Amino acid sequence: MDKIEHIGIAVKDLEASNSLFAKLLGVPHYKTEEVASEGVKTSFFKSGPNKIELLEATNPESPIAKFLEKKGEGIHHIAFAVDDIVAEIARLSEEGFVVLNETPKKGADNKLVAFLHPKGTNGVLVELCQEIKAG
Ligand code: ZN
Repeated sequence: MDKIEHIGIAVKDLEASNSLFAKLLGVPHYKTEEVASEGVKTSFFKSGPNKIELLEATNPESPIAKFLEKKGEGIHHIAFAVDDIVAEIARLSEEGFVVLNETPKKGADNKLVAFLHPKGTNGVLVELCQEIKAG
């Protein structure tokens, strides 16, 4: 695994949180993206070399809606950049981690993503993400 790619934060109101994080970080978000398959709307901020992803649910069945219901707003996941997500999924499965997406899926921000079940990672939802290369 490579560096932390971003930290995902579940929010109730993306627009209000965009203003809040713009004040906090001193820069506005640089993109907003809806991932319909996941029932989320996301926005991204850069803080120096780091990225923050805010996630709002777009329907009550969304994993973010369920997270907010159970835990309220807060840190939802930590995403690590990987070079070869398929190899990393195989390695982590071999190590006994519960990979929620045996086949990586398309996430926000031009990434292929897969998640590890938080039960196997001390309660932290871990996202693996690999940049989708053009061509
Ligand atoms: Zn993420």
